Amino acid sequence: MAQYDLIIIGAGPAGMTAAIYGARADMNVLMLDKLAPGGQIINTNEIQNYTGVGTVNGAELAYQMFEHTQEFDTITFDYATVKEVIDNGAEKVVRCEEDDKEFTASSVILATGTRPRCLHVTGEDNFRGNGISWCAICDGAQYRDKDVVVIGGGNSAVEESIFLAGIVKSLTIVTMLDLTADPIACDKLRAMDNVTIYPFQDILEFTGDSHLEGVRFRSTKTGEEKTVSCDGVFEYIGLTPTTDCFQNLGVLNKFGYVEVNDRMTTKVPGIFGAGDCVTKNLRQVITACADGAIAAQEASHYVKNL
Ligand SMILES: Cc1cc2nc3c(=O)[nH]c(=O)nc-3n(C[C@H](O)[C@H](O)[C@H](O)COP(=O)(O)OP(=O)(O)OC[C@H]3O[C@@H](n4cnc5c(N)ncnc54)[C@H](O)[C@@H]3O)c2cc1C
Repeated sequence: MAQYDLIIIGAGPAGMTAAIYGARADMNVLMLDKLAPGGQIINTNEIQNYTGVGTVNGAELAYQMFEHTQEFDTITFDYATVKEVIDNGAEKVVRCEEDDKEFTASSVILATGTRPRCLHVTGEDNFRGNGISWCAICDGAQYRDKDVVVIGGGNSAVEESIFLAGIVKSLTIVTMLDLTADPIACDKLRAMDNVTIYPFQDILEFTGDSHLEGVRFRSTKTGEEKTVSCDGVFEYIGLTPTTDCFQNLGVLNKFGYVEVNDRMTTKVPGIFGAGDCVTKNLRQVITACADGAIAAQEASHYVKNL
């Protein structure tokens, strides 16, 4: 069994940056991901706030990051779905679902990011993946010249709405509060001719029999109910950490985020966290990369002192 200095679980911006910093610190690095390297940015149309890059397509940035990791002979990438990490002190064992594969390392960085949160209202399960989507880049094109509802009002909701409004006939955005995204993005969305915004609403149900027909919601201010007809819905109502496989390590807080300090260390020596899956306020590409750099640097100090 190969022995690595560092195993990174998750090859999003945090994991890939950690791999580069780890390799530059002379570590032998294994980076694992259950999907293609890139993480959530693969499904993001435009990233406009990553310093020095200007506006870039998410998949293109993901590809550039992965190419960067491939400049190092000491970084190995493997497709694997991690199911458990065992802490045996100086040796950590990473167990994967595929063929019960196991890898060992002196240190591990947990960088598994988040997944979209669901509303759990009537009709959501019926139309999941068939009318209701969580990814405008993946599914937006099938609603060209159709009527679409976006649920949510944060940065992801507003940015993906701007993208969708350029394709669809009408876009209705329904949100629990008012729009809370960056003011520039909100102004851009509000100025689009085919966009209607309903703030301060509770979603009650998704209607339709064999296919999605509409969304019913109620004003939290007046109690008035309304149903908007639509062909598709995109939900952007927040995130849940993808950390179930780390339960046994005892490093998660009550919401499932990996608890770290400002050096990205957890309470288990040799186990570090980075990116969207850790406790923090701002979940963005630039902060994920920063976490990855810090975590790898700390991992390198840890391994050298073993
Ligand atoms: C719609 C949308 C738009 C966004 N727009 C912007 C933007 O404009 N600017 C910006 O800065 N940020 C944006 N973000 C946020 C940004 O994408 C994240 O902050 C960033 O991707 C976090 O990186 P990460 O590496 O921590 O996690 P992720 O990108 O989530 O990567 C985690 C990786 O871990 C893998 N993984 C998970 N579990 C396992 C497992 N058990 N085994 C193996 N692999 C696993 C996943 O497959 C994934 O590849 C956006 C996010 C969304 C959803």
